[in-house]
Amino acid sequence: MLTGQIALVTGGSRGIGRATALAFAAAGADIGFCHIDDADTAAATEAEIRALGRRVVSARVDVADIAESRRFAAQVEAALGPIDILFNNAGSNITKPFEDITEADFDGVVDVHLKGMFFMAQHVYRGMRERGRGCIINVASQLGIKGGPNIAPYCAAKAGIAGFTRALAWEAAPRGIRVNAIAPGPIDTDLVRRRPLEWQEAFKARLPAGRFGTADEIAATALLLAGPHGGYYVGATLSPNGGDVMH
Ligand code: NAD
Repeated sequence: MLTGQIALVTGGSRGIGRATALAFAAAGADIGFCHIDDADTAAATEAEIRALGRRVVSARVDVADIAESRRFAAQVEAALGPIDILFNNAGSNITKPFEDITEADFDGVVDVHLKGMFFMAQHVYRGMRERGRGCIINVASQLGIKGGPNIAPYCAAKAGIAGFTRALAWEAAPRGIRVNAIAPGPIDTDLVRRRPLEWQEAFKARLPAGRFGTADEIAATALLLAGPHGGYYVGATLSPNGGDVMH
């Protein structure tokens, strides 16, 4: 479905990014991915992509550092060719009551998610615009829609990502570039496994689906948006979430 295409995946060493990088590679795309402080899992992901017969480059990049992310986008293009697909996914979180959140906490979360995704999209958008085609998928969260306690910067950033996605979709679609978002519900990755076990079990118990989603289920949604069957999604936020938010 993606034969001959080049995909840049941020946060591709583990979790949702890794599953999506592998799904894109299995569909025929060459992959550039970045990660932060995750050298071993990144090497394993690289090896799996090579085993699928695809070309791959990876690097340690802090997406909150705009100069660094610009260099990485250029590195991917130099090594693999023009980027057709951006899976804008890298992220992390902190949990703290609202009244204790410092400016550094806020910047730490918002700079990675909102600023990081905004400017990574800008780095690849310019080339896509010249070529008149491309696909950008931003990873938001169902928490940006429904909110949640002790994660205010994350919810603010994720809601911002959905808004940014719609704004860019208006400018990009007439130029042949489709921009969409995925707002997953709770997915079984390190991000969720770090939360207390009781919290995880209580969350599962009140989910209509009765379980957390898998990274592969989000990768399948990304493949739909990036592939030939996703052509009419423009500015959409798809939310595979086990029924946590229904809309
Ligand atoms: P994860 O912790 O398993 O993986 C995070 C990835 O992002 C890793 O590859 C890590 O190296 C990379 N990363 C983190 N900070 C980075 C930075 N500053 N610069 C570059 N890379 C960085 O988490 P995940 O669950 O796979 O999360 C991926 C995305 O999905 C995130 O944007 C997250 O907010 C979003 N999301 C996750 C869930 C969930 O329940 N797991 C739900 C909704 C949205």
